[in-house]
Amino acid sequence: MCLHSEFKHSLLSLPLMATIQERLDQIRPQIPSNATLVVVSKYHAVDEIKEAYDAGVRDFGENRVQELVSKVDKLPEDIRWHLIGSLQRNKVKYIAPFITSIQSIESLALYDEVERRAAQHNRTIDCLVEVYVAQEETKSGVPYDEVEAFFAALLDRQAEGNAHIRLRGLMGMATHTDSEAEIRAEFAKLRGLFYRLKEGLMSQYPCFDTLSMGMSEDWSIALSEGSNMVRIGTAIMGPRAY
Ligand SMILES: *Cc1c(COP(=O)(O)O)cnc(C)c1O
Repeated sequence: MCLHSEFKHSLLSLPLMATIQERLDQIRPQIPSNATLVVVSKYHAVDEIKEAYDAGVRDFGENRVQELVSKVDKLPEDIRWHLIGSLQRNKVKYIAPFITSIQSIESLALYDEVERRAAQHNRTIDCLVEVYVAQEETKSGVPYDEVEAFFAALLDRQAEGNAHIRLRGLMGMATHTDSEAEIRAEFAKLRGLFYRLKEGLMSQYPCFDTLSMGMSEDWSIALSEGSNMVRIGTAIMGPRAY
């Protein structure tokens, strides 16, 4: 009778008892070689991050600047840090010296500040535009229908030359729902937009190659809908200690 819920229960409880290494061993083989796994380490201690690092992870995602900055110096220098949460302009300066990518560009003002700070450090920062596709008001990003106009404005800025931002692609989150059909439809919309941009406005930008979608509960759906970067927290690091 309750086959479905028992199945769900066993799926959830097993990985939670396992170690970070074991959860990585289970998930990594399912991620195609053309896709990047970003392990989301927010709210996890430096020791736990080190455990994932020792298991070979080099890409980590954090969503709060203060927390990220407090961890960076305590961890190996070859980690690539990705900022995945909404970013206030006045905090860009703290991460500009080291951040690999900022996946939450959602305004021209934020773009301009990242450009300014990256230039100060003579660095190039990879940026993704966060797209709002979910049916949830808590989610952020540029509304789906405005993304192409937004990119047109970003390209005007890039055309001024000497850009310190590399426009790499899109990041998005699906609605938190049990409906696989809805999640799939939202990811498919993002993929459609990504390829429209790649073959249209961004066709002169070979670096525009990243479609970041998929988290602990929907990464396999995201991969089957064309994601090439998944951001997985809980399913690898375990539950967060808020
Ligand atoms: C927290 C977070 C994730 C990871 O969430 P999990 O459900 O723990 O995998 C991925 N992307 C963003 C933008 C996040 O804020």
